[in-house]
Amino acid sequence: MRIHNFSAGPATLPAQVLEQVRDELLDWHGAGMGIMEMSHRGKDFTGVIQQAEADLRELMGIPGNYKVLFLQGGATLQFAQIPMNLLGGRSADYIVTGSWSKKAYKEAQRFGDVRLAATTEAAAFTRLPRGDELKLDPHAAYLHVCTNETIHGVEMFDLPDVPEGVPLVADMSSHILSRPMDVSRYGLIYAGAQKNIGPAGLVIVIIREDLLDKASAMTPSVMNYATMAENGSMLNTPPTFGIYLAGLIFQNLKAQGGLAAMEQANSAKAKRIYDAIEASGGFYRNPVERSCRSRMNVPFTLANPALDAGFLAEAAERRLSGLKGHKSVGGMRASIYNAMTLEGVDALVDLMQDFAARKA
Ligand SMILES: *Cc1c(COP(=O)(O)O)cnc(C)c1O
Repeated sequence: MRIHNFSAGPATLPAQVLEQVRDELLDWHGAGMGIMEMSHRGKDFTGVIQQAEADLRELMGIPGNYKVLFLQGGATLQFAQIPMNLLGGRSADYIVTGSWSKKAYKEAQRFGDVRLAATTEAAAFTRLPRGDELKLDPHAAYLHVCTNETIHGVEMFDLPDVPEGVPLVADMSSHILSRPMDVSRYGLIYAGAQKNIGPAGLVIVIIREDLLDKASAMTPSVMNYATMAENGSMLNTPPTFGIYLAGLIFQNLKAQGGLAAMEQANSAKAKRIYDAIEASGGFYRNPVERSCRSRMNVPFTLANPALDAGFLAEAAERRLSGLKGHKSVGGMRASIYNAMTLEGVDALVDLMQDFAARKA
């Protein structure tokens, strides 16, 4: 019996998709072998990657002047790959709103001139910067944001006012596909797969074509967006199994009604947990400003941290796992990606209410 897995990532995947993977593992569509065992150059796998890209384009409404790349190295490699490909000897702006954008900002400093356009670290990353706090360079090579901070539970619902001509680069690792996004507002979107897409090892980059020719000369070929785009993400062997599984997830999302339907489901799930926190009279607390509370990652603390271990033990008894908060924030964190069911969320809310009633 499967548990309710609230892990921040690698994270839960839809049981239906995993069952299909199991059924196809040894013999994919009568090929007599599984996806992991077949050549990435053969017509079977070529069909798989093309279908995955077409489905992702349809789901996200990706315009024709954007390339979709299936890469490796996780979102963390993108922290380096982005400046290598986009800086072009200029400077770039970073908005730091939590641990992940801070890491991206730090890593980019190896490659050239990067500016801190704003940071909310002084507010313990519990809010987004206001417009008047942004010091944006109108000549920046790009402006980098993390649109969902997985650790701090801060989500960007409104984008900053980006200076005309400056490409917006977004780390969407932990909320891509959770709701419709207007891809045309971004120069580059990237996301590691293991939060809301599929298995770790795959990272998806969506890049506007005019940004493809700016890589520094020392950029390795497998890290060069233009080279990877020219080769259909197959300059070398791509992460075939991850691409196949991602493709099944895209089909599953389409069958559920696409991203508008996911947004409805995700806001309903998040609302139940935030409401339970608000109704607890301070027993549970989420420190993030209401307007930017994440629908994917809900961190919360117990007023009395001595009760943390008991809460987690009772969670385990109820088959709820992955709720321990990130060490930098403490307390709990419920990651409720697309694949987390409403049933799982209700089981968590039941525990929260029941636990508070007994221990308050
Ligand atoms: C998980 C995560 C990362 C890092 O992903 P890796 O695949 O471990 O490199 C980066 N950014 C965000 C927002 C994340 O949630």
